[in-house]
Amino acid sequence: MSIIDNQYPNYINGDWVLGAKAQPNVNPSDVADVVGLYSQADVAQTEAAIDAAYDAFPAWSTSTIQRRFDILDAVGSAILARKDEFGRLLSREEGKPLAEGIGEAARAGYIFKFFAGEALRIEGQHLGSVRPGVDIDVTREPLGVIGMITPWNFPIAIPAWKIAPALAFGNCVVLKPADIVPGCAWEIAKLLHEAGLPKGVFNLVMGRGSVVGETIVNSPKVTAISFTGSVATGRSIGAKSFATGKKVQLEMGGKNPLVVLDDAALPVAVDVALNGSFFSTGQRCTASSRLIVTEGIHDKFVEALAEKLQALKIDHALKAGTEMGPAASEAQLEQDLNYVEIARQEGGKVVCGGERLNRDTEGFYLSPALITETAPAMRINREEVFGPVASVVRVKTYEEALAVANDTEFGLSSGICTSSLKYATHFKRHAQAGMVMINLPTAGVDYHVPFGGRKGSSYGPREQGRYAAEFYTTVKTTYQAAP
Ligand code: NDP
Repeated sequence: MSIIDNQYPNYINGDWVLGAKAQPNVNPSDVADVVGLYSQADVAQTEAAIDAAYDAFPAWSTSTIQRRFDILDAVGSAILARKDEFGRLLSREEGKPLAEGIGEAARAGYIFKFFAGEALRIEGQHLGSVRPGVDIDVTREPLGVIGMITPWNFPIAIPAWKIAPALAFGNCVVLKPADIVPGCAWEIAKLLHEAGLPKGVFNLVMGRGSVVGETIVNSPKVTAISFTGSVATGRSIGAKSFATGKKVQLEMGGKNPLVVLDDAALPVAVDVALNGSFFSTGQRCTASSRLIVTEGIHDKFVEALAEKLQALKIDHALKAGTEMGPAASEAQLEQDLNYVEIARQEGGKVVCGGERLNRDTEGFYLSPALITETAPAMRINREEVFGPVASVVRVKTYEEALAVANDTEFGLSSGICTSSLKYATHFKRHAQAGMVMINLPTAGVDYHVPFGGRKGSSYGPREQGRYAAEFYTTVKTTYQAAP
């Protein structure tokens, strides 16, 4: 039995442990709906989780790849079998529409299955030496204890794409999910437990970043930190990790551009912007929050997009037909509305949206905002909003569009809508971003290929796909005298 006294406990050293305190997990579509009461770990419990992971490492790091495959594959199968249930939980705690929630849950299942296979494929190299009578092996080994700190916008996929490769390559894990969405991470802990993962190999400590997160980041027993979240928190974790000699991987914000050229197919460009900028309430680090549009198509594009936005069904995430749910929290809603006001004061024209909405249930609803007449230097074009708010920059040429697209401290995802092979190919080559999308939304990625960005968006090796090995393993070069 894993729920204790009506509370979802932490998972430490194979045991379910009630926290020092507990916090309600509240549905942003309906604040009267409490998903559950979730434990909040204190410093001592977090340290116990780190100790457990540290002690479990020698055995797990030398476990057979068959054992790792079996456990990860079982968890992947269980998530896929229960994707509707987990998708519903996800939509209830985070607020994305049910279809998106189920899609994300399925993706988490496939991620576990992908990394089950990767456990079997850990590669090395055997090389000759420049010296006579010497053989060289280059092998990959696990790092130790990985501390994971995750955000609220992908409550099941992001924990999955950190946990699965860490375990596949023989590491132990201490996970702190975002305080407002612990439910999906808790279900993953339960599945890992049920799949027979040895005690201590995976630990879940829920609670505040300033308590649980700080303890993980400062611990000398934690070898590496994988973080996804805001730039400010990421940079401070990076500095502390460097000070304590940790390997660190940071996935942070974006201010992703979508370029729309005169020769784009208008319906395609409008759908690409609608999806990439506004789906998941714009709460995706890959969301296209800057729409850079050449003047020949500008007015038609703005008019058609505004029309679609005004017709968008914004309601409770679990209601049939809902196309956009609420913001994930009151704080995020306020941040979104505040940025619309900032844009207005800077001279932007709010074509539609940017207003709080009332629905049958009390939640954090707002109408998606489209803001035109903006200039690249405005705050609305430089700072991440993380909501359904997109600004439009009017440009004259492709060359100007590319320059504006790259004029940002971020570099996660970058997109273009065009029917020109010449411009698409040039953009692919010159967009300063980790991911480039051509006639596709800037958000929405596959699970078997690398994910990550450049400049201020990311630090350290890429996540996901085979590239995940770069972060979750360390390389050893062995020289051996030939017999
Ligand atoms: P944060 O970066 O503050 O939080 C991300 C994670 O870090 C959470 O688990 C958080 O815990 C934890 N954390 C916070 N402070 C510390 C700390 N001092 N040490 C260790 N861990 C810490 O993002 P928020 O969730 O608060 O969102 C704020 C803004 O960040 C959003 O409005 C958005 O702009 C941006 N964001 C960007 C994301 C992206 O993918 N690019 C994802 C999420 C947010 P806790 O939950 O307790 O705060």
